[in-house]
Amino acid sequence: MSETALTIFRDARKARYEGPAGIARRQCTRLTDQIAYVRAHSRYYRELYQHLPERIEDVTLLPVTNKQKLMERFDDWVTDPELTLQKIRAHAADPDRVGEKLLGKYTVTTSSGTTGRQAFFVLSDATRTTAFTVALRGMSSVLTPATIRKLMAGRWRTAMIVPTGGHFASHVVAVQQRDAGSIVAKRIFPVTMSMPELVEQLNGFRPVYVECYPTIGALLASEQEAGRLRIRPALLRLGGEGLTDAEYERIRTAFGVKILDLYGANEFPALMVKCSRGWYHTHDDWMVFEPVDANYQPTPPGERSHTVLVSVLYRREQPILRYDVGDSVLMRPDPCPCGSPFRAVKVRGRVPILLNFRTADDRTVILSSFVVSLQVACAVGVELFQIIQTTPSRLSVRLQSCAWANPDHVWYEVHAKLARLFSDHGLSQVVVDRGTEPPKLSPGGKLRSVIPLVAHET
Ligand SMILES: [Zn+2]
Repeated sequence: MSETALTIFRDARKARYEGPAGIARRQCTRLTDQIAYVRAHSRYYRELYQHLPERIEDVTLLPVTNKQKLMERFDDWVTDPELTLQKIRAHAADPDRVGEKLLGKYTVTTSSGTTGRQAFFVLSDATRTTAFTVALRGMSSVLTPATIRKLMAGRWRTAMIVPTGGHFASHVVAVQQRDAGSIVAKRIFPVTMSMPELVEQLNGFRPVYVECYPTIGALLASEQEAGRLRIRPALLRLGGEGLTDAEYERIRTAFGVKILDLYGANEFPALMVKCSRGWYHTHDDWMVFEPVDANYQPTPPGERSHTVLVSVLYRREQPILRYDVGDSVLMRPDPCPCGSPFRAVKVRGRVPILLNFRTADDRTVILSSFVVSLQVACAVGVELFQIIQTTPSRLSVRLQSCAWANPDHVWYEVHAKLARLFSDHGLSQVVVDRGTEPPKLSPGGKLRSVIPLVAHET
């Protein structure tokens, strides 16, 4: 652990023992500091906060931002004048530069399509170190000495099942880890690989640590239950989407393992860790987490919120303050029985969806909505999209192209990528239609990037 990480870790541990008062004091100081920093270094925030008091200790005074507003003002949003959207786009358009640092210091990632809107992110090493050091506090119930012993015994053989072919966060991190020269055997498996092939390769590789998206974890659990997959991992890491408690339990039982479940996104990697009782804990000494209704008024604990506003108090290069995440959350009114001094929440946001397709010989093939939407998200020139399953063998894709892109070219690439995916999964007869309408927001103002067939039928 580096000196910085050690200092953060010690302070984070101290905050935990000091309880709510120590946590609140740190939150207030860091919020004030972060606001002063963004006013000094980000043109976007300077403008947004120009009529606010000079010193701000109350987060609710800040106007709300979101992905669309920030992306539209990208060059004004970031705090390093050397960073521009043009440079990041050029970097992200080059598949050979996955994992390479932009300007020698920023890890570049793009959104992977679960929200239907493309965005670009940069992460400094300092931000990443702080995020993971803060999150470490929540991992003690998972990373037990027994689990670590099992991982060591299996020489930490790691399978990373990630979206390849683009600068998606999990792929970028996987490439950086694989290339870090560690003695640990790490292998990257494309998330788009057909299930029979993935099962065969995992059986051969025998990983003791598996990282994947929850929907893939759910599909792998079914393969393990059916006896086709025969791996004995010591630890599974899931993240990126929400899972129901029942599905989470099914995966845990199928593999007989501990699950490390991190809630995060490009905007805030590893923001929260799920505890042994199934709740995520908000690390309030380094973040502000506000469950709110549709008018951005606080939602009381015990009630489900419309969305949540997140402020990350350590992210300097691309600051996230009162950012509308779009996930509905439920905050526990009482302390969590796991003993954590932090507030406990459940998230119902990026609910994973499994899409059922029929093959020509009437078999069912299940694909994660994530895998399908990924094909559209990584096509060049896609600004916004929505995939609607219209029959067991038909999809319609609503597309909104970037202003600079030719919509016909964008559609051609989207269609080709989806056709290849379906062909690889024995679903060549699946028809992909070009939607005649633009993507539509739900009545709550959210964009659902994938709408499965069952959603029309119920
Ligand atoms: Zn807990």
